[in-house]
Amino acid sequence: MTFVEPGAPGQLAAAVREGFAASYGAPAAVVGRAPGRVNLIGEHTDYNAGLVLPLALPHATYAAVALREDDRVRIGSRQKPQPWVATLDTIGPGQTDGWAAYVAGVLWALREAGWQTPGVDVYVDGTVPLGAGLSSSAALECSFAVALATLLGKDLTQAGRRTLIEACIRAETEVAGAPTGGMDQTVSMLAEPNAALLIDFDLQTAGPVALRLPEHGLAVLVTDTRVSHALTDGGYAARRADCEAAAAALGVASLRHAGIAEVESQLTNDRVRRRARHIVTEIDRVAETVEAIRAGDWLSVGSLFLASHVSMRDDFEISCAELDLAVETALGAGAIGARMTGGGFGGSAIALVPLDRIDGVAGAIDAAFIAAGFRPPNHLLGEPSAAADVVTENGLSRSS
Ligand code: ADP
Ligand code: MG
Repeated sequence: MTFVEPGAPGQLAAAVREGFAASYGAPAAVVGRAPGRVNLIGEHTDYNAGLVLPLALPHATYAAVALREDDRVRIGSRQKPQPWVATLDTIGPGQTDGWAAYVAGVLWALREAGWQTPGVDVYVDGTVPLGAGLSSSAALECSFAVALATLLGKDLTQAGRRTLIEACIRAETEVAGAPTGGMDQTVSMLAEPNAALLIDFDLQTAGPVALRLPEHGLAVLVTDTRVSHALTDGGYAARRADCEAAAAALGVASLRHAGIAEVESQLTNDRVRRRARHIVTEIDRVAETVEAIRAGDWLSVGSLFLASHVSMRDDFEISCAELDLAVETALGAGAIGARMTGGGFGGSAIALVPLDRIDGVAGAIDAAFIAAGFRPPNHLLGEPSAAADVVTENGLSRSS
């Protein structure tokens, strides 16, 4: 069984400072830390003005940053052998590609927003698995964004964080060229420990939903199937297009404002109707999940997880054999609920597991994967953790 550990923030901050010094021959000025995330429920609802309920993982990306006196930009990562070098004027949409675009794009977007910044040196390292549907991309953007904001004397209040969220979204969609509905950046910037974050993309609000998982004897087991999901591969864009077509056919601005009765009776294209049915029922399931969590009714949460999985598998068609197997096996081995999570086509599944069944469920999933001829997956525990912030050598500092 392989569990991916989150690591201790103090140690990881020291390690990223070392990587920075080894790369650039001078010390970093600030280290930013931003968490990956796992979504409890509400998939593909963000770009439909709907609801999502993600939590911030204890796994995070750390960005060591220093301002330069010229306009050069150097970006390195422990996870990528090839460092990246450019100048400020060559960064932007259509000009920047590869992994460094997630960092350079934030710099570009904040300059577009009016920030005056010189060039920067950046070195990143972290424990969020890349491409596992756990949002290493937003963690990368946000870790750099909080570090740069701090260096430039900007505040990390709620309002300040909103500016950073917008810049990180622009970096990902416009510079890195990966579509994103905004959930990942929002939770990485606004999450609270021991809570999930209910985000309403219609009202543009976000607020914590206390989870108290250990009190209920439960853990969120995340299983990375190690099947690569590539958001740029077309499946995500095709789903978005179907949702837009459904909203247009129903004469509503977004599927948030459509009811299930009109979806069933007015959408004549079978595929578009099934896509819309997923979105409309999924938004309801998020609201019901919040109610059930607040009532301490975790068995109902488990049922909602399963209904969500079935909807994504059959109506939205974004699951895959590995995700289905992880979910079925988790349920058979004692999980009270399980579903695929994230954009789909691979990535990760989550299971709500009684604390004494964690190893049993993870082991059963490994055995099922081996029997099916799949690569053994990685697991991690989704303990709801804090939002992005700057880190001192001895731990976290909240600068808002
Ligand atoms: P996810 O966000 O689910 O992990 P994405 O495809 O959205 O998957 O983003 C993954 C990409 O983000 C990687 O392929 C890489 O380009 C970039 N990335 C994320 N974290 C790092 C890192 N620590 N170092 C370098 N690149 C990273
Ligand atoms: Mg991502």
